[in-house]
Amino acid sequence: MNVLKLFNLRGVRIPNHKEKTKDLKVESLKAAKYLYYPMDMHIGKPAEPGVTVGDPVKIGTLIGESEGGISTNIHASVSGTVVSIEEDESSGVKTVVIENDYRDEKVTLEDLDTEPSIEDFMKRLEAAGITGKGGAGFPAHIKYDMEQDKARYLVINGAECEPYSTADHRCMVEYADEIVKIIQLIVKIYEVNAAYIAVEEDMAGSREALDRALSENSAEKIFLHDLPTVYPQGHGALQIHEILGIEIEEGERSGDIGVLQSNVSTVKAIYDAVFKNEPFYKRIITVTGPMIKNPKNVMVRLGTRVEDIIEACGGFLDEVRLNISGGPMMGKSFEDLSLAVDKDTTTLLFLKRYPKEEERACIRCAKCVNSCPVSLQPILISNAYRNREYDLGIDLKSKSCISCGICTYICPSRIDLLEDIQKLNKELEGRNDE
Ligand code: SF4
Ligand code: SF4
Repeated sequence: MNVLKLFNLRGVRIPNHKEKTKDLKVESLKAAKYLYYPMDMHIGKPAEPGVTVGDPVKIGTLIGESEGGISTNIHASVSGTVVSIEEDESSGVKTVVIENDYRDEKVTLEDLDTEPSIEDFMKRLEAAGITGKGGAGFPAHIKYDMEQDKARYLVINGAECEPYSTADHRCMVEYADEIVKIIQLIVKIYEVNAAYIAVEEDMAGSREALDRALSENSAEKIFLHDLPTVYPQGHGALQIHEILGIEIEEGERSGDIGVLQSNVSTVKAIYDAVFKNEPFYKRIITVTGPMIKNPKNVMVRLGTRVEDIIEACGGFLDEVRLNISGGPMMGKSFEDLSLAVDKDTTTLLFLKRYPKEEERACIRCAKCVNSCPVSLQPILISNAYRNREYDLGIDLKSKSCISCGICTYICPSRIDLLEDIQKLNKELEGRNDE
């Protein structure tokens, strides 16, 4: 059995670039005239539209029905009318388009018991369409599908380790009371031994807000756990090892070892679903980077196009940019500004675009090896891919790569090691599918 060795160097210190937005209060963005809801705004199977053109909707109307398994419900984030349902020619994924009537009429979910059973709690997460808000987009009701006698710990991730991102930080500063209250309920429902909220040691504001909320709510069994500000301390398996000393075996999920794990913004969404009967239809995102005029943390309705958000942030400073959804280490670059905010969007980052540096020969400095948080040998895996020795990738445990990007970031020869590792893993997956 492979065990990830997570206690190597536990990541690297990189400039966090959070100073521009960490103290900015979350602004509620005025909803746009048209909202776009791709039915694949989560991982897994796309939802199926549950509305037709001409249907009136309110905030909270179910417009996309989960296809079961890893899939999730999608709700309208404005009131108005369904004006079209577009289908992508290549993927077949449908997008529901709603014209906003600016009345902000709402429908809510039914009341839930103040102390719901695990089953009712999971049903609520499913009905509300809650997915992990840290970027992974995994349906929360599947994560929380755990029997009471199996659940031992709850770990809440408030360590937002990607540079530039401050959405989780602001969520903790501004919604600490709600976060603590829902954690108290989850602790009660699952009867876990203890809950830990992981916070980064140099994000003082969120720590203080949570500390205050814990004491005001006389919270028992809930502890703050300071993590050093190193990347990638936000990774789930690393956090579990750091906080609980438990190692996760290759292929295991946190639930397999009795640990319920969520991001702080996800538990805030769970609070809204349980205490306010609201489905997941809005989220906090950070809009930042040197190329945006007015960086902000914004509360934005799902389905809002990036171009509408840019306008609300004063526009760009330069048209030559690198646009990234997510952080600079694990985010994805994109060109199309008509893309809509989905359930996974955490940050919109706009960087200066520099010419790509030429790759040079490996100088065998071993920086990639010494920095890998899961003790892999990135250069050897990269060589295995380039030499088409795919089986060697298995021996080198390439599948254990958590795609943190440190090896590529740190390599002085500018070798895109992560890209090679991902390509090798794709080759191996393709082989399994044959
Ligand atoms: S991207 Fe993968 S191989 Fe590279 S440092 Fe991160 S975990 Fe290690
Ligand atoms: S960090 Fe780059 S140059 Fe150094 S050993 Fe790894 S691949 Fe080679």
